[in-house]
Amino acid sequence: MEKLNHSIRLPGGASCVGTARSAVRSLVTRHDLGELSDTAALAVSELVACAHWFTPDKEMMLKIRWQFGALRIVVYDQHPVHSSPEVSEECRRRRSRGMWLLAAAVGTSGGDWGLTPVMTSAGGSKSWALLPG
Ligand SMILES: [Zn+2]
Repeated sequence: MEKLNHSIRLPGGASCVGTARSAVRSLVTRHDLGELSDTAALAVSELVACAHWFTPDKEMMLKIRWQFGALRIVVYDQHPVHSSPEVSEECRRRRSRGMWLLAAAVGTSGGDWGLTPVMTSAGGSKSWALLPG
């Protein structure tokens, strides 16, 4: 089986949620991981919707990879740098709370998820979900 390792550029805008969801569904199905299809579709919807909410109409990068017995879904967005670490942490907390549905779905499947700032001068954040196969 060809190894699943894909990057998809999402142009931003509300429609990118649907684009990401169908891309992930078709990728996992093509790689014989169809049993992960529903959870993966939910996870990518939540990750992309939340990134879109915090960085509307900005391009994002979606990476989906099968490695070490788990499906890894990662979204890089262009979240701006905040003026202080406190504001940044409060924003991260608020955004994490917004991903309660992802947390529930990933928890049920024995996986994990997270949200971290990406340390570049332009800002950016990385949100991800890990789903065991
Ligand atoms: Zn913020």
